[in-house]
Amino acid sequence: MSSTKVAVVSGGNKGIGLAIVRALCKKFDGDVYLTSRDSGRGQEGLKQIQSEGLGKVKYHQLDIDDVGSITKLKDDMLAGYGGIDVLINNAGIAYKVEDTAPFSEQAKVTVKTNFFGTLQASKILLPIIKPKGRVVNVSSMLSPMTLKKCSPDLQAVFRSGTITENQLIDKMNEFVQYAQEGTHQQHGYPDTSYGMSKIGVTVMSRIHARWLREQGKNDILLNACCPGWVRTDMAGPKAPKSPDEGAETPVYLALLPEGATEPHGQFVSDKKVQEW
Ligand code: NDP
Repeated sequence: MSSTKVAVVSGGNKGIGLAIVRALCKKFDGDVYLTSRDSGRGQEGLKQIQSEGLGKVKYHQLDIDDVGSITKLKDDMLAGYGGIDVLINNAGIAYKVEDTAPFSEQAKVTVKTNFFGTLQASKILLPIIKPKGRVVNVSSMLSPMTLKKCSPDLQAVFRSGTITENQLIDKMNEFVQYAQEGTHQQHGYPDTSYGMSKIGVTVMSRIHARWLREQGKNDILLNACCPGWVRTDMAGPKAPKSPDEGAETPVYLALLPEGATEPHGQFVSDKKVQEW
């Protein structure tokens, strides 16, 4: 087993994920794994990074919707490195504004990957995060914006400092179920699947940060963040930030110095803790 440190980035084949891989290859003292759900697309990302002279990049397949894929990554990281030092849960999806798929379908599909996929990857990989590790969940500014559009009761649930993972799962399932019936707004939920899925990611981060402390893992820091509005396939060419600029806040959180005690369990944008 190698004593080298290791960082893993989900959705690393393009966009912000690829830029995070690039920045970590330059700044992180250890191996950096670009992962992708599709191996072919992953190899393209890998070639791009290697062509920039960043030779220490490595590759592993990872589909956050597939338990077998996440478990294989976990087993290989345990065997190769004894765990993971830096985990960046960046993978995500968004329907285009002009997409004509019904809201019911968009709610189901978006929450499935962005919330349940990220949750599944976290649950399997968090137990192997090494001492002094860093975990970054890429959420969005749309999470606090969408929170304000929820009913006061739902806002209280999502802001609660004691909400459990199962309670959060129930709320996400409830949103998807009401969306199937077209009654989500009557029940206090906003009309955005992506925003709801990212509320899930931010609240999950708060819950997992608490869990780490309950486990006595006091030197691991876990946060959610927004990369900003970034020019990628997801956000389109009009966004103001380049992917490298979008990587800055996630990489800042991934490289919080040894001995740092905060931020932890926060939602961070432009390297600053935001109110939730
Ligand atoms: P892209 O669409 O460019 O990249 C998304 C990445 O996620 C791709 O690598 C994609 O893989 C991967 N992915 C999707 N589903 C899965 C899955 N099931 N398993 C593994 N990987 C998967 O988007 P961005 O780079 O813009 O987005 C990165 C993150 O940043 C997302 O979480 C997004 O929600 C968030 N974000 C982006 C903003 C922006 O302005 N761009 C703003 C705020 C947040 P594949 O190539 O195979 O589809």
